[in-house]
Amino acid sequence: MTDLTPLLRSVFGFDAFRPGQEEIVSAIEAGRDVLAIMPTGGGKSLCFQLPALAREGVTVVVSPLIALMRDQVAGLREAGVEAGALTSANAPEENERIFDAIDRGTLKLLYLAPERLSSSRALLARLNVSLLAVDEAHCVSQWGHDFRPDYLKIGDLRRSLGDVQTAAFTATADEETREEIAAKLFDAAPETFLRGFDRPNLFLAFEPKTRPRQQLMDFVLPRRGRSGIVYAGSRNKTEVLAQALRDAGMPSLAYHAGLDGPVRAEVQDRFDREDGMVICATVAFGMGVDKPDIRFVAHADLPKSVESYYQEIGRAGRDGAPADTLTLFGAEDIKLRRMQIDESPAPEERRRADHQRLNALLSLAEAPGCRRQTLLAYFGEARPEPCGNCDLCRNPPVLFDATEAAQKALSAIYRTGESFGAEHIINVLIGKTDARGERLGHDQLAVYGLGRDMDKGTWRGVLRQLLALGMAAVDGRTGGWRLTEEARPVLRGETRLQLRKDAMAPRGAGRPDGR
Ligand code: ADP
Ligand code: ZN
Repeated sequence: MTDLTPLLRSVFGFDAFRPGQEEIVSAIEAGRDVLAIMPTGGGKSLCFQLPALAREGVTVVVSPLIALMRDQVAGLREAGVEAGALTSANAPEENERIFDAIDRGTLKLLYLAPERLSSSRALLARLNVSLLAVDEAHCVSQWGHDFRPDYLKIGDLRRSLGDVQTAAFTATADEETREEIAAKLFDAAPETFLRGFDRPNLFLAFEPKTRPRQQLMDFVLPRRGRSGIVYAGSRNKTEVLAQALRDAGMPSLAYHAGLDGPVRAEVQDRFDREDGMVICATVAFGMGVDKPDIRFVAHADLPKSVESYYQEIGRAGRDGAPADTLTLFGAEDIKLRRMQIDESPAPEERRRADHQRLNALLSLAEAPGCRRQTLLAYFGEARPEPCGNCDLCRNPPVLFDATEAAQKALSAIYRTGESFGAEHIINVLIGKTDARGERLGHDQLAVYGLGRDMDKGTWRGVLRQLLALGMAAVDGRTGGWRLTEEARPVLRGETRLQLRKDAMAPRGAGRPDGR
């Protein structure tokens, strides 16, 4: 089957599928009728938009809300995809644009308000409709709150289009509604996707890098005899780590896109066949890995986003038996990622979104409570109880009132002109000058030396959490720190701030990049 990840990247700017999306997209790609239940905000629209782009013909999307349709059409057009919505509220120019695209054969997605179903029959009959997508499919349920009588016509439409392949989506998970959707929209039972995103057998853990190589070895070496993956940020690093593991007597191979095809196939093959093989890989390792008994996944460097994180740790424990994951992160990783985003040729808006996604990942890394709750909440799945199977449930972080410390750090960033790196800011806080600091008069600032009561490692922890909380931001190019809007209430003393004690005093006081 064709890999749609490149399309995911180039058109939508996403680096990985969200949980559930890939399975649903694959089923649609394979030509099956689908009913998918996904929480709100989980990313349903991508599940029909991506297959729509990958195939010939037009995908017709029935959706109950004009505002929702307009949003999606605008988003698709911005991404360079020809899409349109036929609603009763359309301006004539809008209709013209759509008919024009139909005539030229460029239209990929046609959104249809339910009340337009009957009147659009003739139009649809002359289109090559290759997929029918039904958004908010629970609107077909007569017993639900959102019943839309026009939705009952969708089944007829499907038949009139020659039993065109149909994919229905909803966030409503109860069984009655599901059965009603299946009965009213389909003639034969669709393949149904109803799976929580949780992978309860995976132990989740993050650690700030203090002695990264040692931390990695401490995680991997005791797992001798089990299969695992270590993800690293660069090709060179995968080679170095694989060598280090072999030196420690662990069977290990590197895998990255720079290796020849036959070498990669050989690595993959040995991973499948040999027990206890550890692959040190870039993200290139993943597609086609379906080994069920991978017992651990480690990230030697911060993944790209929460989506990538979830996808990569998700390769462990497919058999349902317990599997361990550990993700290391350091200030250097964060800086590098920011720089990569800032320097990418992507449009401004997409880069902003990438920064936000990185912030979401950092909040997960520095979460004050259950890791799994934080992760699932990001995907729209609420979970009332802490999981008991993550590092934070096992060792709850100690929170303490860090308002004063945060105020000092934020004001040091501000008073030095919002353009210096973490080391310089910390030096000002602990009252240590160098020639440059003196030249700039930073030793004359009121905040100079105000933070002598804490050591450098602790201050790094404060800065990292302020960054994770979005109160400070780092310029990817210069590494200079600045304040954000979020910092104001704390600086003004309007709110108090709880930070994690452990994240403030990392074991060992290495440099922020962990070397
Ligand atoms: P819903 O399931 O509520 O219809 P949407 O389709 O509107 O959700 O998606 C919710 C949000 O998730 C959108 O902002 C969308 O851009 C984002 N999103 C969807 N898929 C991905 C992905 N694979 N990676 C990152 N963000 C995604
Ligand atoms: Zn937990």
